[in-house]
Amino acid sequence: MGEQKKQIGIMGGTFDPIHAGHLLAAEQAREQAALDEVWFMPTHIPPHKQWAGLTPASHRLRMVELAVADHPAFRASDLELRRSGPSYTFDTMRNLVSVHQDCRFSFIIGGDMVKILPQWHRIDDLLKMVRFIGLSRPGIKLEEKVYRDFVTFVEMPAWDISSTLIREKAARGRSIRYLVPPAVECYIKEHGLYELVE
Ligand code: ATP
Ligand code: MG
Repeated sequence: MGEQKKQIGIMGGTFDPIHAGHLLAAEQAREQAALDEVWFMPTHIPPHKQWAGLTPASHRLRMVELAVADHPAFRASDLELRRSGPSYTFDTMRNLVSVHQDCRFSFIIGGDMVKILPQWHRIDDLLKMVRFIGLSRPGIKLEEKVYRDFVTFVEMPAWDISSTLIREKAARGRSIRYLVPPAVECYIKEHGLYELVE
């Protein structure tokens, strides 16, 4: 009998900043989809998401590293950041699949991303390479059967939090305690991230 392949979940995102919703989603996916590891992979910020106070990749990666440090099955990956410019998930996954032949990859996404999955670059080829694990996200309805054909759904208590909410709170000097891990909260304060620039 051949070796069982190691099951790896990839959690992609801009992580500007990483928050409790990302960590909960990854942990629920890890357990319910029997993943051995989850790799958090910050992406270059795509043009449609750019905003005035754009956070450099080095800070976003460092916050991910701090957030996953205490979980034995979580890792931070700088694979997409090491390439210049934004990369398609298709190219990233093709690269991972060829480099790590002892692993099977799943891509973990929230409901908002499931909705736009049919529009992803080379989605048909991507579906042949990786499994998608979908998590519910408040405000996103996924009733159509088409999603069920693509995606393995896992349950998670709905947490209506986003990086946008955290950036807004931080900018207004409001508390972000418990919305992000303590080490990430410290890092944001220390580096003055998300503060309003007059
Ligand atoms: P922003 O507000 O900047 O868009 P975000 O909170 O949506 O940030 P992203 O980095 O865009 O975070 O998302 C990364 C992945 O995490 C996506 O697949 C997204 O659907 C998922 N995700 C983020 N927040 C949640 C949440 N609260 N519940 C479930 N999934 C989430
Ligand atoms: Mg988002």
